[in-house]
Amino acid sequence: MAYELTKTNFIRRLLYMDQVFIVIPAYNESDSLKQVLVDLLAINYRHIVIVDDGSSCPVSEIIRDFPVHIVTHSLNLGQGAALRTGTEYALQNGAEIVVHFDADGQHRAAEIADLVQVIAEGYDVALGSRFLHARQHVPKTKKYFILKPAIYVNWLFSGLKLSDAHNGFRALSRHAAGKIIIEQNRMAHGTEIVAEIKKHNLKFKEVPVEIIYHEYGQNFSGGIKVVMDLIKQKFFN
Ligand code: UDP
Ligand code: MG
Repeated sequence: MAYELTKTNFIRRLLYMDQVFIVIPAYNESDSLKQVLVDLLAINYRHIVIVDDGSSCPVSEIIRDFPVHIVTHSLNLGQGAALRTGTEYALQNGAEIVVHFDADGQHRAAEIADLVQVIAEGYDVALGSRFLHARQHVPKTKKYFILKPAIYVNWLFSGLKLSDAHNGFRALSRHAAGKIIIEQNRMAHGTEIVAEIKKHNLKFKEVPVEIIYHEYGQNFSGGIKVVMDLIKQKFFN
């Protein structure tokens, strides 16, 4: 769904800009972060919250002149923890819609509008799905050894079967962002968020988004770690 700048969309867009907070977890993303911000600022998003998750070269040194909020973890805690920190910050600062967006250039700034639109239609959560996107190319090993099994892991632990289990591109209404508690500091937070959606009976919709692959991302051992974190949480907490 490409964003068309009709008159109605234009007015809606002006309203959104003040209500939408884009939360970006960032750990050692000095190569990609500037371009990600340039793309977001070009669309006029006004509230961009970067959570520097203990990067070795601090984000505040890389992007001195950008009009963004920077929240810092003094230690590297993981993407889940960074999203928890950033979402809380966004809510405290008046966000009506919180968007989770990666710092490594894998998400498309232009597609945020598609997710925000779904929240504006009355859904609590819009979840990005690469497998609903017509033009998406996914590297085969990633698809069959990580992402497809992840759908079933997600289903097992959350009770919801989605078309794409570990997609970090999502939008939450204020209501949903306040209900969803992220306790998993690292990558298992993806499944945890889906479990929270089910637990709180939040109205959700999957939205086609394209994930850009320029590097491999999480590998198979990363996937095993996610399952171990979920088992720990389910049986030992
Ligand atoms: N990230 C983070 N802390 C970490 C690991 C990752 O804040 O300890 C951020 C990272 O900078 C990126 C996002 O979380 O913006 C997703 O990480 P990654 O690209 O490694 O995961 P994948 O694409 O495989 O889901
Ligand atoms: Mg990535």
